Amino acid sequence: MLDSWTVGKSNGNAAKNGGAKDAHPLVTGNSDRRTIVWVGDVPIGGIDAVVMAGPCSVESREQVTATALAVKRAGAVILRGGAYKPRTSPYDFQGLGVEGLMLLREAGDAVGMPVVTEIMSEEDVDVVCEHADMLQVGARNMQNFALLKKLARSGKPILFKRGPSATVKEWLSAAEYLLHGGNENVVLCERGIKTFDHSLRNTLDLAGVALVKEMTHLPVVVDPSHATGKRSLISSTAKAAVAVGADGVIVEVHPEPEKAWSDGAQSLTFDLFSEMMRNLQAPIRAIYSKREQLVSV
Ligand code: PEP
Ligand code: MN
Repeated sequence: MLDSWTVGKSNGNAAKNGGAKDAHPLVTGNSDRRTIVWVGDVPIGGIDAVVMAGPCSVESREQVTATALAVKRAGAVILRGGAYKPRTSPYDFQGLGVEGLMLLREAGDAVGMPVVTEIMSEEDVDVVCEHADMLQVGARNMQNFALLKKLARSGKPILFKRGPSATVKEWLSAAEYLLHGGNENVVLCERGIKTFDHSLRNTLDLAGVALVKEMTHLPVVVDPSHATGKRSLISSTAKAAVAVGADGVIVEVHPEPEKAWSDGAQSLTFDLFSEMMRNLQAPIRAIYSKREQLVSV
């Protein structure tokens, strides 16, 4: 059986895989080069890691504009905000739709940041492309192949989240649909997977991030907000993500998280976001050593 190990650094040559066909040659082939995905004037996958931040859902002009200003001041370079929300229950807030897209665009333009927002349906591709610089394929849509084929033709930068129950191979194979359809502007995003342990919302697969960085030329980022579901863990897990080689992080921020219409428990306040940015800049803890002169024997 073909698995993510055997296809690792291959260039799609079936012979290398014992005759099996490589499931994601364009995603993993040629992994010695690095692809930089430009979102507006922001390069993802270059020397510096990038921080994308903003509310889970766009709720109002005041909410998204205040958040845009706060995250920009603290060092974020791309504004996030959901207008079409994939909610577990149909009774939960579903997003403001086109109005949300317009408010996000307005806030991004006001502070000079490109914007990323989720696309849930094939029907909405044109309108979302019109308002956003980058389109997020959410975890629940990772294998919506009809949507992926349409997004491949759009040519827009795609933030491609890993499904909560997807293996690395399934994730990369689904990303292959975008490249195969002609769109190489793909940023992979690990956002936590389902495991036996329910202590947190999901389990952040950091080793998977390191593995995928080895396997692909595409940028890889981490979403510690959805991965943990817990505000107090965002800063440390974001730092760990950068430490294992992630090209950036995407985090949720809200002016008053306790009043958020979605994902309040994992949303940072403005102050906590600034603290996270400082923590990301600070050096990683030194390794203790005795620093003694070695005595030659
Ligand atoms: C989100 O970014 O708000 C979101 C719903 O993400 P995910 O698809 O990873 O659950
Ligand atoms: Mn969310």
